[in-house]
Amino acid sequence: MKKKAKKGSQATPLDKRRRQGSKLRSPFHQLGDKVAWSSWKDDHLPDVIWLAIICAVRDQKERIEIFREIAEAARKEFLGEDHASPTHYFLSKISFDSFRKIVAPAIAHDDIRESLKILATVDAMPDRGHWRELFGDVAAKDEDWQTLAKGVALCLDHQSQESTDIRWLKIIYLFAIEKMVVPEPMAERFLQYPYVGDMRQVRPMIRSAEMATRSMFKGETDERVTMECEPFWAEMLACTRCITKPEDAKTEEDDDALKEDIYSTITELYEHFYSSVQNTNVDARLDSAFGISFYSLSLCLEMASLPSRHLATGRVVLRTITELAITLSFLRAKDDDAIWMQHRQYGSGQTALAFLKSSAGEDVPSHIDLEKLEVLANEDVWFETRDIDLGSWSKMNLRDMSIAAGRKDLYDRYYDWTSGFVHGHWGAIRDATFTTCLNPLHRLHRVPQPMKPLPSVVTECCKVTNQSLEMLNALYPSFKRRITKHY
Ligand SMILES: [Zn+2]
Repeated sequence: MKKKAKKGSQATPLDKRRRQGSKLRSPFHQLGDKVAWSSWKDDHLPDVIWLAIICAVRDQKERIEIFREIAEAARKEFLGEDHASPTHYFLSKISFDSFRKIVAPAIAHDDIRESLKILATVDAMPDRGHWRELFGDVAAKDEDWQTLAKGVALCLDHQSQESTDIRWLKIIYLFAIEKMVVPEPMAERFLQYPYVGDMRQVRPMIRSAEMATRSMFKGETDERVTMECEPFWAEMLACTRCITKPEDAKTEEDDDALKEDIYSTITELYEHFYSSVQNTNVDARLDSAFGISFYSLSLCLEMASLPSRHLATGRVVLRTITELAITLSFLRAKDDDAIWMQHRQYGSGQTALAFLKSSAGEDVPSHIDLEKLEVLANEDVWFETRDIDLGSWSKMNLRDMSIAAGRKDLYDRYYDWTSGFVHGHWGAIRDATFTTCLNPLHRLHRVPQPMKPLPSVVTECCKVTNQSLEMLNALYPSFKRRITKHY
């Protein structure tokens, strides 16, 4: 079954990114250090957590009305002053009397009042003193934690409806105290939100306006104008448990039919080998062409037979199968006796090198059979008479080989991501050994899940192996059998 590429992603396509040396530049590169990026989730959401709680218990129409009343209260209290945001940081800087007036539109509702009491129990809130003075010495109940978690869950995404509504309040709060003015008709869209204009344009406008205002209170100094958010997240981790749902492997549609299909392809290739072989001398072209095809088919059969198709090992195998297909495509494109022999001799040299290195040590690795290795190294010719080639067998990297063979498509489609699993890059480590905690109060952090099931590689292994069989058919016609049961 074909899986469609993701549509609607905001990512800049590769061909629109500028390459500079070994870097693909960010679309924002030219801005340099002029812009300090900050994260809504990490650096700003805790600072408006009381508004997120309101989002958890009120639908949009009702919460917008409450937010409007909060802005009106700010106008009465702070017109022309600098207490310019409904954030916990700014709430902590004002008197209790002013604080009470700003939060009054929210706590006028009994259920919201109840839900906000938890803020009097969270040490990390900079305005905790005000909440305690308002609510007294209270203890958070389970349902209060759940409401807080729901509010955070609704607002973790900086573009969610709830986050956008909160960010809108931050803007109209500034309008209300006359610290910010925008021209018509933009002002009307802000003031009449969410009832005037196309919301597909108004919502992004609100978000970018809010982002632009984040640094406007800083003035000359670098003094922070938001709460310290990390202690809040640390407290949430300490107070609440992780929620994990182990990811399950999807079973293959028909494992037995696929295994049988691969196995009988191997059998037919075996027969084709005997119909193609002319003599018992060293034939680099025949051995490499058939050897690559058999190796690829064997790896496919392993993947179809073992749970490792759902694990990191499967990615390593898919990379090898891809390298085999590109190598055979390159050999076929050149189809030069010297290059076939170069491929073979390089491999024999590597066997000799492994033998020499293993025999030099006291402790031979358990997976190495030294006697067998020596026989293999000497199979074509006594290796003492040959130089051992280091580096790449073709004197090219695989990417260049794929270009020379006209198979850059294979390289682009399979090689980079699977290579991460071979080299132990962070992306692969993250994918293979961590799952995501589902407790919103833990802001989607990573939790170890070794042997985490991943989507099966078996279909792609079969498709790429079929590409090697295409090459074999071109070199030793005619071999038309392909693996077909993987779709
Ligand atoms: Zn967690």
